[in-house]
Amino acid sequence: KTTLFWFRRDLRLEDNTGLFYALQQEESVLPLFIFDRNILDLLEDKKDARVEFIHREILDIKAQLEKKGSSMLVRYGKPEEIFPELLEEYDIQSVYTNRDYEPYAKERDKQIEKLLKEKSVSFFAFKDQVIFEPGEILNGSGEFYKVFTPFSKTWLEKFKESQVEPLGEPKWKNLQKIDPLKEITLGEMGFEKSEIEIPSRVADKDIISHYDQTRNFPAKDGTSRLGIHLRFGTISIRKLAKIAFNLNETYLNELIWREFYMMILGYNPQVVDQAFKPAYDQIPWRNNETEFEAWCEGKTGYPIVDAGMRELNITGYMHNRVRMIVASFLTKHLLIDWRWGEAYFAKKLLDFELASNNGGWQWAAGTGTDAQPYFRVFNPESQTEKFDKDLKYIKKWVPELGTSSYPKPIVDHKFARQRAIDTYKKALDQ
Ligand code: FAD
Repeated sequence: KTTLFWFRRDLRLEDNTGLFYALQQEESVLPLFIFDRNILDLLEDKKDARVEFIHREILDIKAQLEKKGSSMLVRYGKPEEIFPELLEEYDIQSVYTNRDYEPYAKERDKQIEKLLKEKSVSFFAFKDQVIFEPGEILNGSGEFYKVFTPFSKTWLEKFKESQVEPLGEPKWKNLQKIDPLKEITLGEMGFEKSEIEIPSRVADKDIISHYDQTRNFPAKDGTSRLGIHLRFGTISIRKLAKIAFNLNETYLNELIWREFYMMILGYNPQVVDQAFKPAYDQIPWRNNETEFEAWCEGKTGYPIVDAGMRELNITGYMHNRVRMIVASFLTKHLLIDWRWGEAYFAKKLLDFELASNNGGWQWAAGTGTDAQPYFRVFNPESQTEKFDKDLKYIKKWVPELGTSSYPKPIVDHKFARQRAIDTYKKALDQ
């Protein structure tokens, strides 16, 4: 009898909760990964670096498992179609996995669990991608927190109490002994290699130690760049949170933001396409397509905005400070729907994470959980003055700055600021 361990966004062998317990409790564990067509078919860019990254990681894990005398089942298709096939091919008694809190993933798992139960196969899911999952951090009345600061306080208290530690060495002897199984190439799935480089998965202790001083300056190498590794689980959150707790509170606070937005999405799946504060769905967005295109291409004539968008287009990354500036610019200066910006980021960001991206965009647009009033509009010039004073970051991405080939500002700042405030006010007063 076989037990499957189904990898999803937990692509590592060490400190992987579901895998650990499968090997602890069962005797013939065979790992599985499904390249999910429900997700892949939606990707327009066939050179998507994230697909290439996952593919590389899967082959690497498969090779590591083969060194241990086992292998990995790698399939391409829709989970709801793959599982019935697997049930025919193998004598499966249970399926282990780690929980995922996105609306699609929750629905998928419900469907798979049902399908397995009908064949008397058990389904076990574990907490793995977060320290505390939606529902574990609640206020005094047992409700979810709507603002970050009290959430983070409770989170931290609970973290200290629970002494979260990475798991030890799994019982590898319980892996199923099997000859190497078939691989799938990127090409067979219709994808190609990209030119984008993936940041290292090593948590740089020097960067994390100085994070509170360096994190706001986009020209500095002052943030960890671990976003993609947290997204796909190529680093363990328990290991990282422990490093953060010992080295830098500000960094730990960012990991708490990640869980805050996951919790918000968990309790409010409607935020995927609606404002967290419903009244803000009244805003009559201008949605000018030419302006949106200029924003996407980094041609707004606002150097800090253009630098950010070009960094994103070329590297799949954008510094957090600049994400806030470009998002504010799109939603406030251009009055373009935050959902347009969110979708563009989702396509481009290596570290795209539905909950954080949605949270970040709704924060910038003023439609989200934050208590910040809508009339605070980021001024690109003073942001530059504060965070890129010598224009080092800007010049890296906008080398033609100051020449005639650099575009004129797409809109006047003072005018746009007032227009945003008036538009928001009118919509919210209705
Ligand atoms: P570091 O600064 O080194 O932080 C470490 C980790 O903490 C990050 O990798 C991330 O997992 C988490 N984190 C940091 N800041 C935040 C935050 N504000 N909210 C939630 N988690 C945070 N983050 C994503 O992971 N995916 C997204 O799709 C995403 N979209 C964003 C969109 C907008 C408009 C804004 C303003 C922010 C967005 N963020 C997103 C948050 C933040 O910008 C990135 O997490 C960060 O820039 C990633 O770089 P890093 O790995 O060097 O992070």
